[in-house]
Amino acid sequence: MSKEKDDNYWRDKLTPEEFHVCREAGTERPFSGEYWDCFEDGTYRCRCCGEPLFHSDSKFDAGCGWPSFDTEVAAGVVAERPDNSLGMQRIEILCAKCNSHLGHVFPDGPTETGLRYCVNSLSVKLDQDESASQSGDESIKKEEE
Ligand SMILES: [Zn+2]
Repeated sequence: MSKEKDDNYWRDKLTPEEFHVCREAGTERPFSGEYWDCFEDGTYRCRCCGEPLFHSDSKFDAGCGWPSFDTEVAAGVVAERPDNSLGMQRIEILCAKCNSHLGHVFPDGPTETGLRYCVNSLSVKLDQDESASQSGDESIKKEEE
């Protein structure tokens, strides 16, 4: 039901890098993003609209340089559509709510779902679990170089 927002709306709301990935189906460089090696507990929300998309419980290290998940946080929050660009047959994944580009899903996941949701860090934002932070042990590792 959500009305399609126009490019100007998103250009205003997002950084140029986020705009390119989320609204123009770009791909960030592998190992360049914020979350590919982040294993904090929490919910990964859509960078554009805040909708919960993935949970850290389903995140695994695929070694590909992008955050990878084996399932969406709830059925239907991630939309899929065929992507035959670059001479490859892939399935693009998008936020079902705002149509933001997330990445691609591949049928070669190592876990029981058999799926690998390969997501751009720029497409999501980690919302850390409150339950995890109330242990009082603030061991937040952030690599900023
Ligand atoms: Zn969204």
